[in-house]
Amino acid sequence: MGDPVTSITIVGGGTAGWLAACFLRTKCAPKIKITLIESPNVPTVGVGEATVPHMPVTLREMGIDDQEFMRRCNASFKMGVMFNDWNVDRKGRFIRYMNPFASPPRIEGVEAGHYFQAYGAGNRDYIRSFSPLMDLFESWKCPFSLNKQGEDPMPRAGYAYHLDAVKFAGLLAERGRDHGIEHILDDVDDVELDERGFVAALILRETGRHPVQLVLDCTGFRGLVIQKALGEPFDSYADYLGNDRAMALQVPHPDPEKIRAATQSTALGAGWSWAVPLFNRIGTGYVFSSAHRTDDEAAEEFLAHLGDMAPPGAEPRVIPMRVGRSRRAWVKNCIALGLSGGFIEPLESTAIHMIDMGLRWLLQYFPSQDYEDATRDAYNRVSDGMFNEVRDFICLHYRLNNRTDDPYWMDSRTQLKISDRLEHLLDLWRHQLPTPLDVPSAHLFTYNVFTAVLLGKQVYDNGYGEGQLNRSFALPEKPWKAFLRQSAARNRAVLDHKADHRRVLLALRGELRAGMRANTRLGEVDESGAAESALF
Ligand SMILES: Cc1cc2nc3c(=O)[nH]c(=O)nc-3n(C[C@H](O)[C@H](O)[C@H](O)COP(=O)(O)OP(=O)(O)OC[C@H]3O[C@@H](n4cnc5c(N)ncnc54)[C@H](O)[C@@H]3O)c2cc1C
Repeated sequence: MGDPVTSITIVGGGTAGWLAACFLRTKCAPKIKITLIESPNVPTVGVGEATVPHMPVTLREMGIDDQEFMRRCNASFKMGVMFNDWNVDRKGRFIRYMNPFASPPRIEGVEAGHYFQAYGAGNRDYIRSFSPLMDLFESWKCPFSLNKQGEDPMPRAGYAYHLDAVKFAGLLAERGRDHGIEHILDDVDDVELDERGFVAALILRETGRHPVQLVLDCTGFRGLVIQKALGEPFDSYADYLGNDRAMALQVPHPDPEKIRAATQSTALGAGWSWAVPLFNRIGTGYVFSSAHRTDDEAAEEFLAHLGDMAPPGAEPRVIPMRVGRSRRAWVKNCIALGLSGGFIEPLESTAIHMIDMGLRWLLQYFPSQDYEDATRDAYNRVSDGMFNEVRDFICLHYRLNNRTDDPYWMDSRTQLKISDRLEHLLDLWRHQLPTPLDVPSAHLFTYNVFTAVLLGKQVYDNGYGEGQLNRSFALPEKPWKAFLRQSAARNRAVLDHKADHRRVLLALRGELRAGMRANTRLGEVDESGAAESALF
């Protein structure tokens, strides 16, 4: 083994930089010094407000108190993503479906999706056939209960957070400083390389030369160390994903008493609009293709979509997006995390999770100062795998859209590339629903999630494959009917038992009227991100 790494220098003070600092401080021995250098002049991107279900686990591991987090970051709960208008049904009407944090059951050993495709579920869509999350969403409820007697019909539910990105970075920064992170507010103006091409030191505008061992490049879309200094190529995903710009706006809740417990993604003319409901406001925006809309056209379309929700005179902030990734995430003694490592459009809110995973892989493949090739290559392989997985899953949404009302949607279906892997899977899934064998190394998007998209978009009823799935054809109807009766009863019981989302948030923030217990922690979270869902 070479000399041990005893110092980690993080460049960048956005979500990536501060998450890295806090997470590594929690996981590394105090003898490892952690320094974070942040420019006082370059702002953070300031968006990125929806997460995936691993987030509660990560916060817990960093010792961040749920209630403090909920209050300080104006956080709310997320049960999944609602997709509006991405596809049309046989009559040309827009379809709405949910991609929930819930797994379908097996009925007599067979996934519910096969039965659903064979026999339908009356007037319930696929997700409602087994899960109450759509009903909770529509009733402004969340997967937690308040002061409820009796057995909880859904004691465990996966959930993630919506959070205020700026406040979250602030909370992490405060915590990092309190826990001994050295924080330098200065600009990195230059990077000094040694004779092997490794980063030897950073040249800071005010403080001068800062020698380094392991460097984490968290400088956002600039990729200051990994691309600019080390020259690692940036592989664009422009051939795969057409959206290259976003505009963001914060709007008040139309009715402050009502807060949705899911992110919404609504397809517009040349992209899609996100709506992330926090406790105190909604973060919204439009991700679009500059080949199909100018900024002015997109702003007009976006504001028309918001209607009365947009404050008078609102001017959305335009954010150019560099979509793609650094060819390798780890080069020499530098690892790129966050936007410097790569970015795939935020349709599935995966970016913060990818930072989280990058940190966990770093701990698995922790280097010595020899920066062994095998260790670095192993890290880069898992990082590649995750980028490919996320890219393919996002591509699926565009390839399987069936809108014909704007050239953007037709181009998305016919002009954008998909990987060979996705091409093969889509060929296979014409005949059958996804199985665990099809996506064996999935980090995030398991076969169940692919199934939710295929059935949510109603692709089998609209010309994909031959309509009839081989496996579904052979299934008996009786067990499915029995299951549907049980699940309808359970959905009703869950809806009755679970509480209004806003009231739960008020309780967690300690802002409900006296007499109600408001200082109870969220239930224990297990490794899969599912939580006990009875709060009180
Ligand atoms: C439109 C949009 C929507 C998104 N939505 C989501 C979402 O819902 N969920 C999700 O998980 N992610 C989302 N993301 C991604 C998310 O915003 C980012 O992954 C996250 O904010 C991390 O950003 P970052 O820290 O890498 O970069 P930034 O926030 O850009 O921070 C870069 C840091 O580097 C510093 N810096 C730059 N140059 C220098 C220098 N020379 N010297 C010193 N410091 C320097 C800056 O000062 C800053 O502190 C979204 C992104 C976009 C664009």
